[in-house]
Amino acid sequence: MLLALALLAAASPATPDAEIRAAAERIAPAVVAVRRDLHAHPELSNREERTGHLVAERLRGLGLEVRYPVAKTGVVGVLRGGRPGRVVALRADIDALPIEETSDLSFRSQVKGVMHACGHDAHTAILLGTVEVLVSLKDRLPGTVVFLFQPAEEGAPEGEEGGAPLLVKEGALDDPKVEAVFGLHVGSWVSVGQAGWTDGPIFASSDTFTIEVEGKTVHGAQPHMGLDPIPIAAEIVQALQLVVSRQIDGRQPRVLTIGRIQGGTRFNIIADRVTMDGTLRTHDAAVRSEIKTRMARTVRGVAEAHGTTATLRFLDEGNPPTVNDAALARNVGVPALQRVFGAGAVRVEPQMVAEDFPSYGQKAPYFYFLLGTRNDAKGIASVNHTSTFDVDEDALPLGVRAMAALAWDSLAGKP
Ligand SMILES: [Zn+2]
Ligand SMILES: [Zn+2]
Repeated sequence: MLLALALLAAASPATPDAEIRAAAERIAPAVVAVRRDLHAHPELSNREERTGHLVAERLRGLGLEVRYPVAKTGVVGVLRGGRPGRVVALRADIDALPIEETSDLSFRSQVKGVMHACGHDAHTAILLGTVEVLVSLKDRLPGTVVFLFQPAEEGAPEGEEGGAPLLVKEGALDDPKVEAVFGLHVGSWVSVGQAGWTDGPIFASSDTFTIEVEGKTVHGAQPHMGLDPIPIAAEIVQALQLVVSRQIDGRQPRVLTIGRIQGGTRFNIIADRVTMDGTLRTHDAAVRSEIKTRMARTVRGVAEAHGTTATLRFLDEGNPPTVNDAALARNVGVPALQRVFGAGAVRVEPQMVAEDFPSYGQKAPYFYFLLGTRNDAKGIASVNHTSTFDVDEDALPLGVRAMAALAWDSLAGKP
């Protein structure tokens, strides 16, 4: 008890929630306008020229130290508060997807075949709003906030680096040295007015793979004279499902999907090879690596049993699972969300979708949460990555308040 009182006395003054709220509500129309402008002008991963430029200009206008471009088209802004303290980072991703928007919103995409279908327009607008709110309270801000506007979360084009790993590689968290990172994702997982959190895994790992099965083409009536890769591929598909269902602890979430399979040219010709593409999702680094090892053994073994070869190739490093730091969640993340969302701050089940956000975990502990933007009454319910995805903009000022509160709480030395 005495220790707790001493800690309270030593702590920095409380986060100015009422002022943050008032500022967030005052700028809400501007945040909505930015979101709509970005929504109308979406840009693909590593091609976010207009978006990056717009962000850099705004940060300069607000008096931040700006590094631009970083990680191709990204922007890092540094806000040094009027009081000494720790360093925390807030992150927004800025890229869009190759999807043709089919909604009839007045601010729908003006770029054919490109759409902000994952809500990164909202993330960018929220973070710009957060900058403005914290700048207005700068004199009392007890430390430094680094704002990360990150390109290419959806994946850099083949052969290019990008996203969170590149931001980390280019030192975005090194000077000033970041001690905690916060991020959010909008979506229909939870409703507007709610924030979904966990104190452990929240998003899955994701690994993209290709399998190639070698065959020998011959007349379809004489398979014994060649080598038919199609039934072997079918056997590999089944065997891989047995890896995830029979060889891994049933309490561990995991999904293995073969999403594409291609082979052959005609009904009466034995195919010369089959290629298959798929994705692997888990919530645990050890499970992820265990499945990858067993997949390689299974692919090799099934092919060998039929007298051929098959290769398994993982396309890139993939994304590790997004796993919230339990202490940061307990001490900073959840209390801040509870102040902003009240009973709307809800514990959620981890999702099987993935993020490149965990790359920041190489540098500092992190807390990542879901900002609810679903509103069935307004007909806003489509899931991320669909052509009718939208967000309830009433969530934007809540996102601003949450990010500002998380940064301030963390700076104020909450352990
Ligand atoms: Zn996405
Ligand atoms: Zn996303």
